[in-house]
Amino acid sequence: MSNSANSAVSNLRALPSVDQLLRTSEAQSWRSNVGEQRLTAIARLVTDELRTEIQDGRQSNGLSRESLLAQAVRKLQTACEMESAGGLKQVINATGVIIHTNLGRAPLSQGAREALADAAGYCTLEYDQATGERGRRGAKVEDLLLELTGAEEALVVNNCAAAALLVLTVLAGDGETIVSRGELVEIGGDFRVPDVMASSGTRMVEVGTTNRTKLEDYQRALNEKTRLVMRVHPSNYRIVGFTASPSLAELSSFAHDAGLPLYEDAGSGVLIDLGQFGLQDEPVIKESLASGADLVSFSGDKLLGSAQAGLIVGKASFVGRLRKHPLYRALRADKLALAVLEHTLESYRRGAALQEVPVLRMLAIPQAEIKTRAQNVIDKYIAAAPPAPLELRLKDGESAIGGGAGPNTHPATTLIAISHPNRSADEIESSLRLSTPALVARIAEGEVLLDLRTVDLDQDEEILAILLTISQ
Ligand SMILES: *Cc1c(COP(=O)(O)O)cnc(C)c1O
Repeated sequence: MSNSANSAVSNLRALPSVDQLLRTSEAQSWRSNVGEQRLTAIARLVTDELRTEIQDGRQSNGLSRESLLAQAVRKLQTACEMESAGGLKQVINATGVIIHTNLGRAPLSQGAREALADAAGYCTLEYDQATGERGRRGAKVEDLLLELTGAEEALVVNNCAAAALLVLTVLAGDGETIVSRGELVEIGGDFRVPDVMASSGTRMVEVGTTNRTKLEDYQRALNEKTRLVMRVHPSNYRIVGFTASPSLAELSSFAHDAGLPLYEDAGSGVLIDLGQFGLQDEPVIKESLASGADLVSFSGDKLLGSAQAGLIVGKASFVGRLRKHPLYRALRADKLALAVLEHTLESYRRGAALQEVPVLRMLAIPQAEIKTRAQNVIDKYIAAAPPAPLELRLKDGESAIGGGAGPNTHPATTLIAISHPNRSADEIESSLRLSTPALVARIAEGEVLLDLRTVDLDQDEEILAILLTISQ
């Protein structure tokens, strides 16, 4: 037998058992955190991994029982730490992307967070406090939506994809839906118009071309199986140049002449005109209804700035059919989302949305204000004189809307650009990201960039503390 094979055998004999590992004080201290069963499974994985390393010659010769146990304990601790680090955690979004899909889309106002906490216990979800009898889920949100959009009826489901699925299934599942080829879009996170059509059972009839679709194209597609005309807001992309498509009003007279309903998937959709912020392409829901759309659906957590939800507004007869369909029961919104929506929509009703809804507030912050805050962070950092300082400077840049809205809208901002003579941008970015709370930045041209547009005012101090911590 060769020497290395010998040492592998002796190492294998010294390998701690799962039980030995579980009896260590370190393992015991993780027991309440990850639970008995999971701890045992992790201990088994760790000893298996050590055994494989020994067999593959990846461990040095003649290790003692103690040193192998110490290695096993370290591995177990790392595995347990990773285990408890998973899941949802608070992050500071310094990317400047307002509706950041990976970071939870719309952040909620303080008031909305309190409404969420209030609804977390028992609440009047389907209870009429005045009579003590059963109430209608979502009634308040629906009423607010009617007021804010002028619709006859409203319905709330889990997200906008669910809204589209519900509308297509109920109104057109047994027939055909006409849609322009220019609107067969994919929106981040796997929402693809043709796929939703397919799962609803409706047969998609594409008309026109990618850049130009005319009323005659819709006209030619009509037949006795046609059930619905659909308009999809292209959200995250724009076709420019030689383009044409009928207005919503034209499409609506066409559909109504043919005795068909018109459904607009507005995507983000907005309740108030955001043209002053460069978002003139976002359909204002009230205007879509006024132009003749029979049903309009939009997301709760994009530019509306609230909880994840799919909001459907429109004619009473169509919304009524959606409400009665069994699929609605499967797709309806939960009490937490409804509580948040109530709060956000009340801000709109008071005319206070631009001040109170974080997404809109962030959109509206002038560059000068962001610059002052950024300068403030830099000044305090320099005044604190950390031992291994980063180089911080102001840099003009652009924020982004995100969330599949306003792809061409880039509000001007002032960034904090971070660099260091001996640390790469990737290193700096990862130490920010691995801080507590995580600070998520972006990298461009070899510099780490922080955009305070998407950072709460009271988080500027937290950013300063994180920058000082990684400069030790
Ligand atoms: C974002 C979007 C959706 C999907 O909305 P979710 O709320 O994410 O389900 C559907 N349609 C359009 C046009 C969108 O922009």
